[in-house]
Amino acid sequence: MMHPILEPGAMLGVLGGGQLGAMFTGAARRMGYRVAIWDPDPDAPAHRVADESFSTSFADHDTRERFIDTVQAITLEWENIPVELCQWLEQHRTLRPSSAVLRIIQDRLTQKQFLSSCSLPVPDFAEVTSEHQLHQVISRLGLPLICKTARSGYDGKGQWLIRQPSEIAQFEQILSTPSSGVRWIAEQVVTFVRELSVLVVRSGTGETRVYPASENRHEQGILRDSIVPASISLSDAEAACELSVRAVAELHGVGIFCVELFQAQDGRLLINEIAPRPHNSGHYTLDACTVSQFEQQVRVTCGLPLGEVRLLSPAVMVNLLGDEVTTVLSGEGSRETFSTPGASVHLYGKRVIRRGRKMGHVTFTAPERATAVASAQQFLSRVHNLPSAIPSAP
Ligand code: ATP
Ligand code: MG
Repeated sequence: MMHPILEPGAMLGVLGGGQLGAMFTGAARRMGYRVAIWDPDPDAPAHRVADESFSTSFADHDTRERFIDTVQAITLEWENIPVELCQWLEQHRTLRPSSAVLRIIQDRLTQKQFLSSCSLPVPDFAEVTSEHQLHQVISRLGLPLICKTARSGYDGKGQWLIRQPSEIAQFEQILSTPSSGVRWIAEQVVTFVRELSVLVVRSGTGETRVYPASENRHEQGILRDSIVPASISLSDAEAACELSVRAVAELHGVGIFCVELFQAQDGRLLINEIAPRPHNSGHYTLDACTVSQFEQQVRVTCGLPLGEVRLLSPAVMVNLLGDEVTTVLSGEGSRETFSTPGASVHLYGKRVIRRGRKMGHVTFTAPERATAVASAQQFLSRVHNLPSAIPSAP
């Protein structure tokens, strides 16, 4: 069945107004669309680039009425939008992805249970409900264990690592604090060779496009950099893409998704989690692909044909966290950054710098992967404020 296309000129609604919403807006406006952002935080960066903006609470009934009067289709840039709001919105407008997908993804336990019920490989996991039951979980899964709040964590927040028996008591204390109406999931810590992620875009008719796997490194639970293509064999790359496409199809997901994977030491690929939106590890697509993850989101939201996915160049994306942004983008640092061949700077326009906060990123492209990696490494040594590993020209 052919779905109607929303043509340029239409107003697209976005739930959430962070940098992902701002980058979506950039893609949408370039393609002739207008954008309305709804984010309760008046300081959220996407408000400033949008045609219309709403900054009331997601619980505000008056705003939801005004929102659907303003927009013709809706997408989101944050998976923790209240499901009830999404259910109401999708009775009136197309919402991509759907509330049903969000309901599964918002809760790490529900998500992992769903994936394993579809025979998709995930790390061994269990729900942790009490101090007493924690011990049963430990005897079943062993140590080390990573315990995560079932809901609303990001950048490694809301995670607790139990490496050895002496660290159990501390976590028991957290479990017993009265504030814990919180549900927890415990996962076996995977000894991985590398982390990968795969972007999958899937249309309302089930048409699918998949991006090459990127290789991601984290520092203290926060994405440090992503390299594309990943240094994996062709068959592993195919397996990662195949698994990711299957996961999104099982979800009946319509939208852009990022499937985060572990390549375990024993060679297995395991799904860590799925984001139902563009992803930080996919920012390289802005500079190194025919069609970016944000343009795909516009296309799928409007019912347009999906874009051809072609990697135009190897790329390394490096995040700028907290005051790293000042180190590499002021004074002499700025001159060096902007004079690096193939360096493309993206700043998110956040007013307040906080430790670990994603302030922007720089993507390095080069005809050879090794050149892009070397540029990124040199940049990283400046980010870390260390003497550069590669001597600069005299
Ligand atoms: P993000 O916002 O970056 O996606 P998040 O807070 O949603 O992160 P996860 O993706 O679950 O949380 O975990 C963040 C990182 O912690 C992972 O990318 C990985 O490096 C590490 N990690 C999480 N779970 C495991 C696990 N079971 N075994 C090994 N490492 C893990
Ligand atoms: Mg993650």
